[in-house]
Amino acid sequence: MGPGDPELVTVKALKVLKDADVILYDRLVSEEILSLCQGEKIYVGKSIGEAWKQEEINRKLVEEAKKGKRVVRAKGGDPTVFGRGEEECIFALREGISCEIIPGLTSAIAGPELAGIPVTSRIVAASGFTVISGTRAKGELDPDFIPEKGTLIVLMGIHDIEEVQRVILMKRRGDEKVAIIESASTPKQRVITGTLMKLSELVKEGHVSSPSIIVVGEVVSLSFNQ
Ligand code: SAH
Repeated sequence: MGPGDPELVTVKALKVLKDADVILYDRLVSEEILSLCQGEKIYVGKSIGEAWKQEEINRKLVEEAKKGKRVVRAKGGDPTVFGRGEEECIFALREGISCEIIPGLTSAIAGPELAGIPVTSRIVAASGFTVISGTRAKGELDPDFIPEKGTLIVLMGIHDIEEVQRVILMKRRGDEKVAIIESASTPKQRVITGTLMKLSELVKEGHVSSPSIIVVGEVVSLSFNQ
């Protein structure tokens, strides 16, 4: 459903939301977007301290669909970027329920962009970008997922910022530029910039909260919004 601003929801997503009998949504789907829908809205809040377990969500989706209802599972950003949209879709299909994934504008790209930061740019020879999660279900952040070059985008990195900084520093220089974009596309959007060496300080001193995106790389210096 995009990063939050209702104007960034696709025409197709808006259509299915308006036609839905039941909408299962989580924390990153904004109130403004939900207020556009008539169907029954069920919060299945999936943040830290999960209200619903993944299996419960899967079962609820199928249960409602088997009653003949049109069910929409609304998620922030794009449903398959750290969104488990594919897991829910596979579960529904196995239960004989037809299912469609509607792509959305991911905060991983739209967030930096709304802060004036392109994820790739010829100007600074950033010819690729990598999106990683700063939160791992099991174990530590794997440095193998961090490229030595190009733009690095970290989602869900605020909660464990010291660990995220430590692991990124295994692959990247401390003087590389970073930007933190909090609540992108919403009236609360905030952008903080600095260097990788200071990343956790910037987060702590700035009282940065989730949802936020961290961008590492030369593209941060472009800031076409200023
Ligand atoms: N499927 C989502 C990502 C889910 S993971 C997407 O494509 O955007 C959740 C993480 O996404 C958050 O912890 C945060 O890092 C990021 N995020 C989502 N919406 C955001 C927003 N409006 N502003 C900043 N970060 C956001």
